[in-house]
Amino acid sequence: MGWSLSLGRISGIKVRIHATFLMLLGWIGLTAWNAGGPDAAGRALAYIVLLFACVVAHEFGHILVARRFGAQTEDVILLPIGGVARMKRIPEAPGQELWVALAGPAVNLAIAAVLVAVLGPRAVVDAFGSGDAQWHLLPDLAAANLFLAVFNLLPAFPMDGGRVLRAALAWRMGRARGTDVAARVGHVLAFAMGVYGLTSGKPLLMLVAAFIWFGANAENASVQTHAAAERLRVGDAMLTRLAMLGAGAPLAEAVELLVHSAQVDIPVVDALGRPLGLLTRDRLARALHELGADVAVGEVMLADLPQVAAEQKWDRNTFLDHTCLKAGIPQGCWHDADTDIFRFTALVFGRTRETTTRAPHSPTPSAALH
Ligand SMILES: [Zn+2]
Repeated sequence: MGWSLSLGRISGIKVRIHATFLMLLGWIGLTAWNAGGPDAAGRALAYIVLLFACVVAHEFGHILVARRFGAQTEDVILLPIGGVARMKRIPEAPGQELWVALAGPAVNLAIAAVLVAVLGPRAVVDAFGSGDAQWHLLPDLAAANLFLAVFNLLPAFPMDGGRVLRAALAWRMGRARGTDVAARVGHVLAFAMGVYGLTSGKPLLMLVAAFIWFGANAENASVQTHAAAERLRVGDAMLTRLAMLGAGAPLAEAVELLVHSAQVDIPVVDALGRPLGLLTRDRLARALHELGADVAVGEVMLADLPQVAAEQKWDRNTFLDHTCLKAGIPQGCWHDADTDIFRFTALVFGRTRETTTRAPHSPTPSAALH
């Protein structure tokens, strides 16, 4: 994320602080200074720094439990509305997600419990109601941790409570449907929160409401597109209209064909239309240079192509890694089980189909291949 500063690493994970959070610190310090001088400013800043240390601890609750399930985290960013842990992969099994979601609020409860045990419950109860600027940093911190635990457990997806709800729903109705329902509940709560924030003059609450609203949208869209991709078969993504050449055709014919089409590679077939190999653009260029335009396509084509069944689940990464890259080529030929006809394709065509079925930020391995 841009505009953020690294604070160092905890347990191997980068902790970053966003510029807007530094601005918040500056604003709080200034306001407190104006109201009560340097002492008040120092106390206010100490409180915010301790509070956000608790927020980081909350995030590490999520991170360490997720790590137990094999999910790695890139970094934690502190924003004025809280911390965000960016995980490379959120555990998807409902049981795992449940534990990961609960671990954050559990950390805040634990901190509050320790503080209550040390300070006594009276001090903490008093801290909840008092609006004065007295020096009761630790009771305030205990109260804030209790609030954080309860607030995060609101079933407003994608907040922690919303993730608990999604996990529970996913058990009954599957992840895609469960996410959809949880996102709707999140929308209702975000709307209520936004209206309350507006009428009671609490801009931070409105910001959190917006975060929930858009967060629910983004995560739901991502889950739905992945669910759609799950249903795709290789046959759905493959190209079926390709110009082909016989093995005896001269390279000149291949040049002619490529010049007049958007095709990148040319499948080479026998008299019955069965695949013999693939003439890639690279091979064509090299052969033209070294051997001339009269050489037969069959002599320079790439033979022994890997084959994938059309009914196999479409997974671009698996396909690339295990089928094409291992064979040393970015292309494959696919077998249509219905008609028992082999069809060729170039992965570049799979890419155009996939842009509508995958999250927009997923990396495009094909781009690295060409
Ligand atoms: Zn959390």
